[in-house]
Amino acid sequence: MVKMRGEGWKIVLTAERCMMSDYHGSLFLGFCACAPKKLWNSFAFFHFICPKAPTYDNGKSKLAPYATRKIEASLLEYGFTEDEVAVVDPESIRDYVGPKTKVIGVTSNDPLGRGPATTTFSAPTGFFRDKGEAYDAWKFRELVTDPYLKHWGAKIVVGGPGSWQLEDDKERRRLNVDVVVIGEGENVTPPLFEKIVKGEKVPEVVYGDIVETEKMSKIRGGTVGGVVEVSRGCGRGCKFCIPTLLKLRSRPLEDILEEVRVNVQAQQTQITLHAEDILRYKANGIKVNREAVTSLFESVKKIEGVENVGPSHFALASVASQPKLLREISDIVGVGGREKPWIAGQTGVETGSPKLIERHMPGKALPFKPKEWPDVVEQAFGICMDSDWVPCGTLILGLPGEEEEDILKTIELMDRLKNYKSLIVPLFFVPIGSLKKEKRFTVDDMKEYHWDLMLKCWDHGMRWAEELAKEYVVKMPFLAKTFVLSFITWVVKFADKRARKNIVKLKEKSLKR
Ligand code: SF4
Repeated sequence: MVKMRGEGWKIVLTAERCMMSDYHGSLFLGFCACAPKKLWNSFAFFHFICPKAPTYDNGKSKLAPYATRKIEASLLEYGFTEDEVAVVDPESIRDYVGPKTKVIGVTSNDPLGRGPATTTFSAPTGFFRDKGEAYDAWKFRELVTDPYLKHWGAKIVVGGPGSWQLEDDKERRRLNVDVVVIGEGENVTPPLFEKIVKGEKVPEVVYGDIVETEKMSKIRGGTVGGVVEVSRGCGRGCKFCIPTLLKLRSRPLEDILEEVRVNVQAQQTQITLHAEDILRYKANGIKVNREAVTSLFESVKKIEGVENVGPSHFALASVASQPKLLREISDIVGVGGREKPWIAGQTGVETGSPKLIERHMPGKALPFKPKEWPDVVEQAFGICMDSDWVPCGTLILGLPGEEEEDILKTIELMDRLKNYKSLIVPLFFVPIGSLKKEKRFTVDDMKEYHWDLMLKCWDHGMRWAEELAKEYVVKMPFLAKTFVLSFITWVVKFADKRARKNIVKLKEKSLKR
């Protein structure tokens, strides 16, 4: 097949550049996209850490974010043909947009850099705000404001996890975005695109509805990170979270396995099973369904070509409620040893304060009580360590109603977690979900005790960074490995003292306010 240079594809799907990378199979490196663009050399970043996804001869991407693949699949199921829809690399998008192009669909995690990680680290509110906007926001802006994309009259439609940031008319217009789809896209996007293709008028903001598992289209191409969705929604009901609006739905095992096979065909042999809590696959409410979870991992691992299987997220309360399950999963996956030293996944620690748990996220502790939360966290971290799992935890600073004693409790919890191999990242509270009207937290709101907590997290990270980095990069290409390891060694040996000094200086400054 020949590239459609000049004429263009009718529907062009792409994603912001930082999402269109497999990060050498180390998807957690994707967090670097939340860092400000002047923090490290962007040439090195895009070459060694975030190389672009490979493409086929016809220009279509071999790998794309799972959300983009889902929309592609729903369009094809709706009746658009493979000759009309193309998923392409954002840096070459001009080659695939032409007089035939009616819609350009863009996936973004964080279009304006207002997600928790970006606001914590980058401009205008984060620790390194003097180093500019985040990579992801920069690359999104660069993509959608390219005047060539609209040269032939195509409409730009943005979707993805961060699309809520474009609900504001002014922001959309500033960035040339015609339509934003907020929420689950499979049901609403195909008829929306059909109307745009026919030249009909469409609303500027489209809200997706809850898609039942049988209506979730199956992806047709490989995904970055070998991501395959296992379940959608959460149901624990934390007030600051978007998935709180969604109910937990687990997909049929056959659909998951089919998507794993699609990935293996695209040479993705490291599979990431995506769920807000992998341990609640086919759960009965909050109760973990042990058989369903082990059978999921067993079935995926058995597929020919699959080398490794891991989760995206897991919940600490689920770990503590089923203490033997992580070890069982590790044994199924074959974890331990140099090649696969551990399984990593993201998890929410959020706070050490039972009061804040009770107020904003009582469901997070279930089946335990909010007052038991610090013990649940420590117990879960212990189980992780014994089972060769590494939790990448997050904390939230500035939750509404937070007082000094809440942060002191979190500092106490950090002390209890000191000896467990893990990473713990403090993030600023972002008003979303049912706390949408509350005040955003910024670096200017940091009090002395927030800085003390920052120092604890920094020291915890430094204690484990080198060991984790060495184990993590084992399979990376030589240059990427060298780049990551030299960066980490530099941070641990040289930047550590400077960073600590800066944190102390900022703490003193906050005392004068
Ligand atoms: S447990 Fe996590 S995913 Fe579930 S509602 Fe709470 S923050 Fe959201």
